[in-house]
Amino acid sequence: MEFYGGIEAGGTKFVCTVGSGPQDIRAETRIPTTHPDETIQRTIEFFREQKKRYSISGIGIGSFGPVDINLTSPTYGYITSTPKPGWANTDIRGRIQAALDVPVAFDTDVNAAALGEYTWGAAQGIDNFVYITIGTGIGSGQMSNGKLMHGLIHPEGGHILIPHDWQLDPFPGSCPYHGDCFEGLASGPSIERRWGVRGETLPDDHPAWDLEARYIALAVCNLVLILSPERVILGGGVGHKTVLIVKAREYVRQFLNEYVSAPQVISGLDDYIVLPGLGTRSGMLGAMALARGIGEQHRSPYLDD
Ligand code: ZN
Repeated sequence: MEFYGGIEAGGTKFVCTVGSGPQDIRAETRIPTTHPDETIQRTIEFFREQKKRYSISGIGIGSFGPVDINLTSPTYGYITSTPKPGWANTDIRGRIQAALDVPVAFDTDVNAAALGEYTWGAAQGIDNFVYITIGTGIGSGQMSNGKLMHGLIHPEGGHILIPHDWQLDPFPGSCPYHGDCFEGLASGPSIERRWGVRGETLPDDHPAWDLEARYIALAVCNLVLILSPERVILGGGVGHKTVLIVKAREYVRQFLNEYVSAPQVISGLDDYIVLPGLGTRSGMLGAMALARGIGEQHRSPYLDD
């Protein structure tokens, strides 16, 4: 039997798994993201142990970023300009591949999560969709014609600029680069800074959620208009809140105003804007799905022809 390794490389922890699919996880561990030398070494040790028991045909890494995913670049597989102390210019993929001697696929954390949803979750059989994660940060992964989109670097849908009504919301935004971009207005930390308390302590009828739903809907409308996705998946800690997705759908309907004349958007929004099929496990399973591509096809499914 063939097994895959997955590394969901996040800013606070690395979730490492070995298995053949969502129903067959053989080993799983969480390693705190401290200094790269320590975290990467512990990751390598975990997989070394697992390799003694399982035939691991490849490992996938879905990483926090920014990352270099350009295959022809000398710094392919690096975390690049992150402000996270010690992690700038870290060759995460190369070090793990060299130490474990297995092929390692590498992509952004959100692209990996999108691939997880495509392989086993809410986007199965849907070749054009967007996965948006709303939590500590905001990111988007897009699949187009069955391939994850990369391009110049990789899509950064979390930082798109959306209308900001300063009368309705005087909060200037929290993005260090753009102030009131989507992430600056709608991430978990921005909710906390605007209201002075953590989002999870706010009741469902608090005005925070209506505002949050509005921002999510504005971003979703832009992505729908530009990318024409056949489904939109809202993941991440904030995105999982039920009241939010219900309100966001209503705002999307209102803002698009029946201009996009597809039944999914006019009357089928409950099936169009959805929660992840894999719950909170899209990222970790998506990392395994990246590896699965190597094992089955001897190359990654997300690469261009
Ligand atoms: Zn920004």
